[in-house]
Amino acid sequence: ELTMPRPRHRRVFSVANQKGGVGKTTTTVNIAVALALAGLHVLVIDLDPQGNASTALGVERTTGTPSIYEVLIGEYTAAEAIQTCPDAPRLGCIPATIDLAGAEIELVGMEERESRLKKAIDGVEAEFDYVFIDCPPSLGLLTVNAMVATHEVLIPIQCEYYALEGLGQLLRNIDLVKQHLNTTLDVSTILLTMYDGRTKLSDQVANEVRNHFGPKVLASVIPRSVKISEAPGYSQSVMTYDPGSRGAMSYLDAAREIAQRGAKEPS
Ligand code: ADP
Ligand code: MG
Repeated sequence: ELTMPRPRHRRVFSVANQKGGVGKTTTTVNIAVALALAGLHVLVIDLDPQGNASTALGVERTTGTPSIYEVLIGEYTAAEAIQTCPDAPRLGCIPATIDLAGAEIELVGMEERESRLKKAIDGVEAEFDYVFIDCPPSLGLLTVNAMVATHEVLIPIQCEYYALEGLGQLLRNIDLVKQHLNTTLDVSTILLTMYDGRTKLSDQVANEVRNHFGPKVLASVIPRSVKISEAPGYSQSVMTYDPGSRGAMSYLDAAREIAQRGAKEPS
């Protein structure tokens, strides 16, 4: 049976990379489902106005649904906005609706604009072993809010040309948040995604990332897989869409590694 260790303490991740299309949402959704199917309590917060994580997790995200936008502006509490995902009973999701598109600008004029998410989820996180925040592809105020609300950053890196471009900027921004807003923030986890074993390039990128980041890089690598890209079209994670596929197995391995790294000592 599928089991994974509970963490020593609750783990809250920002899944971030300002480049679009590197696998942030796919990683958030599949790692979250894998951990939840293994018996852990997991919350996904969709912080991208595109709402792809909400769609993949099969939760309601039509206008008017209590979403992370209303939570940020204080209209609903986080607890009121959590929906249970059909894929896994222990998996909750606070969805993003199109309303979030204006939030980046609206937040500028608000009090405590960098720490609104942290304030809003303070308390509800207590019910969960893991919280994952799926960030938008930018380093704006929404991503800053995620980084202020979390202790760990998970950076998916696509095994492609230009994969490392922009990474320096991301790391500098994380350092700035760490210095000024959240001293506990740590880039704990790097995941190589869309690896194509047939190309030298994938290996080159993987080696370069491992040389640079060492043990932060998970041993599990996510292959480029049609099943992974098909699953969201069925409002599913690949973990439930095709559990035996290579893509599902690789995300399961990655989730297990994450769980083992933060595992509670046996008592
Ligand atoms: P991001 O959230 O960083 O923008 P996504 O997770 O949405 O990236 O992925 C971008 C696109 O690539 C999506 O269409 C997704 O289905 C696809 N994709 C992600 N990971 C894989 C993979 N391992 N193999 C094939 N397609 C993938
Ligand atoms: Mg995304």
